[in-house]
Amino acid sequence: MAGEAQDDCLFCKIVDGKIPATVVRETETTVAFRDINPQAPIHVLVIPKVHHPDASSLAVAEPAILADVVREAGEVAAEEKLDSYRIVFNTGSGAGQTVFHAHAHVLGGRGMQWPPG
Ligand code: 5GP
Repeated sequence: MAGEAQDDCLFCKIVDGKIPATVVRETETTVAFRDINPQAPIHVLVIPKVHHPDASSLAVAEPAILADVVREAGEVAAEEKLDSYRIVFNTGSGAGQTVFHAHAHVLGGRGMQWPPG
């Protein structure tokens, strides 16, 4: 059921401490950890502790927690001393989503291109 931890979800396992991650921030509702395959000098994932398959589903079900995720993305950027950064919510496999537990990518520390690939 949406919101409940899923046995087969990688990020639920990170929330539960069953898979290790380099955690940089944690709140009551979110965890932020370094991406295992960074695409920029700073690449941190911010996830809600509750399971929803993507950011839009989270927005519908628990909008305050999506706001927590976005706020935490800003806190990560501040801690990493990023003047500019990009927040990305890949949504759907065609857009590059590979883990179906909502997450924000926080990318920074290099120049960014527009449009993204
Ligand atoms: P998506 O492709 O779904 O937008 O993003 C998933 C991200 O999770 C990818 O950037 C990928 O590198 C990252 N990732 C996948 N497995 C792990 C893992 O076990 N640990 C960490 N820290 N990141 C992971």
